[in-house]
Amino acid sequence: MGSHSMDSNFFDVTVSSKTLLTPGMLRITFCGDDLRNFRTTGMADEYLRLFFEDEATGELVLPIIDGEGRWSYHEDRPPVRCSTYTVRRFDRRRCELDVDFVVHPGGVASEWAQRAQAGHRMVVNNPRGLYTPTEGLPWQLILADATGIPAAARLIEQKPGDLACRVVIEVATPDQIQPLPERDNVVVTWLTDSGNGHWKSRLGDVFPLIPLPPGPGHIWAAGEQEAIRTIRKHVKNTLKLKPERHKLVAYWIDDERLRPRRPPLDTTVLAALSTPWKPAGLQS
Ligand SMILES: Cc1cc2nc3c(=O)[nH]c(=O)nc-3n(C[C@H](O)[C@H](O)[C@H](O)COP(=O)(O)OP(=O)(O)OC[C@H]3O[C@@H](n4cnc5c(N)ncnc54)[C@H](O)[C@@H]3O)c2cc1C
Repeated sequence: MGSHSMDSNFFDVTVSSKTLLTPGMLRITFCGDDLRNFRTTGMADEYLRLFFEDEATGELVLPIIDGEGRWSYHEDRPPVRCSTYTVRRFDRRRCELDVDFVVHPGGVASEWAQRAQAGHRMVVNNPRGLYTPTEGLPWQLILADATGIPAAARLIEQKPGDLACRVVIEVATPDQIQPLPERDNVVVTWLTDSGNGHWKSRLGDVFPLIPLPPGPGHIWAAGEQEAIRTIRKHVKNTLKLKPERHKLVAYWIDDERLRPRRPPLDTTVLAALSTPWKPAGLQS
């Protein structure tokens, strides 16, 4: 992997440590002098991309990023494989970056993180944030599954002291509950045995049950695409919130749900299956 320090869009980083936060989430601390030029947005939900070498060729072909941040790809090469992750912590002085990975099977990034060891290299790009609520709002509701925990933790960490924060997070198993930053005016509820590719998400179902304080507030949600879709429907059709009052982002797609439903069995096959049978020679 060559150095990308001449290109201010990409940063060569090295794994400096790895910590298992819970059985379902691990933290990788990246370091590297390149990070001196990392342009953090300061936004709590800022995310970056991790870029992976082509599995067949072992080559890393980075996209071309223009002055406006638009991406394009080299015509004769397959587009690079990349995954999106939240910047959980950035320390410019120490040139350090923390990324928290959900542990799940079948993911290029998640499995890379599970195998990663100190000294392993990675390339990341500059982060981008989405969270821009109107200042001075009295309340905020945060809904997330495990993928949204790093951003939710930063939202709590960076919140103004008097902002009342209601947080609902769903995790696959009770041992995946993790401590969140302690701040005044934060009430957290964990939903266990829920969502995260193990079960259907409950975020969309519980959302309408949560009473919202009077007056304007902000709703931030991150999770599986279908859950976010359900939340968005309620926000738009029932609560009728203006766009600046919410940020609802699909962080991943559960492939299981996308598998096509099998057509119902043909009646003749059903009849054949249900026909009684017995081994030859057995007298009835
Ligand atoms: C703005 C943004 C910020 C994000 N921040 C984080 C973060 O900080 N930490 C984090 O872990 N994720 C985060 N995500 C989600 C992450 O990008 C996806 O989970 C991504 O699919 C992981 O890439 P992968 O290469 O491991 O898996 P992929 O190759 O994309 O997927 C492979 C398989 O894994 C399944 N899968 C993907 N994610 C999950 C999951 N979480 N649980 C169970 N099965 C899964 C897919 O359905 C698919 O079958 C963020 C996403 C966005 C858009």
